[in-house]
Order: sequence, then C-alpha cells, then structure tokens
Amino acid sequence: MRPAVPPFNMTFKCTNCGRTQPLSFTGYRCPTCTGILGLNEPPAFDSARVDASAPGVWRYRHTFGLPAEAPTITLGEGNTPLIPLELDGRAVHLKHEGLNPTGAFKDRGMAVVFSWLRHLGIGEAIEDSSGNAGASFAGYAARAGVKARVFVPATAAGAKRKQIEAYGAELVAIDGPRSKAAEAALAAADAGAVYASHVFNPLGLLGNATCAYEIVAQLGRAPEAVILPVGHGTLLLGLSLGFQALEKAGVIPATPQLIGVQAMACAPLWAVAKYGRQGLDWVTEGETIAEGIRVVRPMRGDAVLAAITSSGGGLYAIDDDRIRSSHAELARRGLLVELTSAAIWPVLAETPGDVVAILTGHGLKTVERGA
Ligand SMILES: [Zn+2]
Repeated sequence: MRPAVPPFNMTFKCTNCGRTQPLSFTGYRCPTCTGILGLNEPPAFDSARVDASAPGVWRYRHTFGLPAEAPTITLGEGNTPLIPLELDGRAVHLKHEGLNPTGAFKDRGMAVVFSWLRHLGIGEAIEDSSGNAGASFAGYAARAGVKARVFVPATAAGAKRKQIEAYGAELVAIDGPRSKAAEAALAAADAGAVYASHVFNPLGLLGNATCAYEIVAQLGRAPEAVILPVGHGTLLLGLSLGFQALEKAGVIPATPQLIGVQAMACAPLWAVAKYGRQGLDWVTEGETIAEGIRVVRPMRGDAVLAAITSSGGGLYAIDDDRIRSSHAELARRGLLVELTSAAIWPVLAETPGDVVAILTGHGLKTVERGA
C-alpha cells in the first residue's frame, strides 16, 4: 500500500536567497533581497484525493496548499476540452484554454489567487496585463467581491480593455510598451497596494498546473510533447510543476517535452536558448500581433528555460506572417483562437509523435482587429 501523501502546507520561498514568508505575506517580492517569490515545495499529487464532485480546477484542490477554510472561488474554470485533430495523417490534440470563463488559461491561476486573497480578508488588489490576465483578474475580482485596479498598455486590444471595464475594475491605461504598464503597477505596489500579479505571485502556478492533470486524465496517458505560446511562461511553469507532480506520484512515467513558442519580434527566451546570454543583446520589445507573448523581460525566465531543458523540450520563434496564416488555418478547422495562440500551429506540424498543443486564448478577443 502506498503511504499517504502528507498535506501540502504552502509558504512562499524567495527564489534568490531562500528565505521563506508565511502564507499571510502580501508583499510581491522578498522583503530581504527583493528576489522573486516561489513556493517552499512543489505540489504533491494524490489520485485518491482528487474530488470529482468539485468544479473544474477545484477537484485538484489538495495540490494548492490552501488552508481548509479558504473559500472556493469559481466561475467554472478548467475542465476545458481536449480536441482531437488529424494533421498530415497523424492524430494530435488541442487543449482549448480559450473556453475558460474569461476566455483564457489565466482563469486557472486566478481562481487560486482570489481564494487566497479572500482567505486573508483583502478587499482591494492590483494587477498589470497586456489584456488576458487583466481580464481574468477583473472577472475573478468581481466574483470574489474584491475591488480591482488593472494597469494596461494604452495599445492593448479594445475588446480586452472593454472586458476588464465590464467586470467593474478600474482600468489604468499607460502609454508606451507593455513594460511601462508593469512599471506603473510596481510603483503602486511599492506604495502599499496588494499586487496580486499573475507573474510575481507563485500561487497562480499551482492553478496552472491543473492543465497538466487534465491533459493526462483526458488523454489517459502523458503525451510525448506539449506545445504552447510563452511570454512570461507562467503556464509552462505550471505545466512543469503539474507533470512533475504526476511523475512523482507514479501516474505518468515521465514529464513530456515542453516546447515554448515566442513571437519572432520579441523572443528573449528563444534568443538565450539559441545564442546564449549574448542573444539578449539583440532582443527588443518589437511590435507583434501576438500581443499576449510580447514580454521582453520574462520575470521567471531562468526557471522557464530550466523547465524546458529538463523536459528535453525546446523553443521556437515564429514571425507574424506565419502567425496570421496559422490563425486562418485553425479557423478553417473550426477553431477561432487568439492570434497569440496561433503561433503553436507551425511548430505542431514540425513536432513528431503524440503531441498536445495549447490554445491559450479565445479568438473573439481579437476578431475585431481583422483576425
Ligand atoms: Zn530573498
């Protein structure tokens, strides 16, 4: 008989100096060295503790490390379809994360983050986002009864901005590239606001890990590779945590290759993987239609690269022309996805074996921009 998995009592742990902070800590980075916060230990998966009666991601609540009294905040996130597709005579699968409640994978992490915020009695929080994380943050804030303020680039797609405002969040439009919105949010956080960032707060990664649990449950096995768009890489890190937890629990024999796709105009992780650190010298925050992955400084970049390397995966950079034609090809198969999500398509065609690609956002988010 297998020994019971001990309860996961989560705390924050600095990824730089290793100091821990209790779950009640609401700062967004290490108070000693300003390092990015991670978790004290990875999530532990136990098949016997999966609650099939719980909604979506909450059936995997035992992997979140939240106290028992933390409320379940849900809009029905997770449990997205795994769609089979024949591509060049072989079977592949597409995990349609655009069918989450606010139209993007971010909802998995936000459900966990807002449970934590409500547990701590926090009534107001801020976020910055190029759109999808902001919309998800605003939606879950509305659901949880938390006042939300979201910093977005003034250039973000109109539909996403309208979505954020529709949920009742205060929207702060910042001129300049994506990084300026992040800087404005950091300034507000340093002035005392609770910054429930999808990038800085590691709790969201535990929610994102549920995507791995679902893929294995739906497929009945681990795929050989998983392909996904990568900006900051929070979904990739969540998938890595999830697959490793499944591997450790003996559910799957090995973690699939994790293959990240970036936009050629802004591909810092691809540049480092291909050219080493000096590759960053040529990377700029270039214009791209794949706005969801236009991230020139991924805050957990080293961890993302390590997760890809340890899985035996890799990185690709795709230019806008191919993203646009891929978007059209997916749509002609009945899959209307966000432009960012279409970047996986050329890589899927080149990756042999049993492959799952992740469609990270819904096409209605960008359809009014001609795609
Ligand atoms: Zn530290």
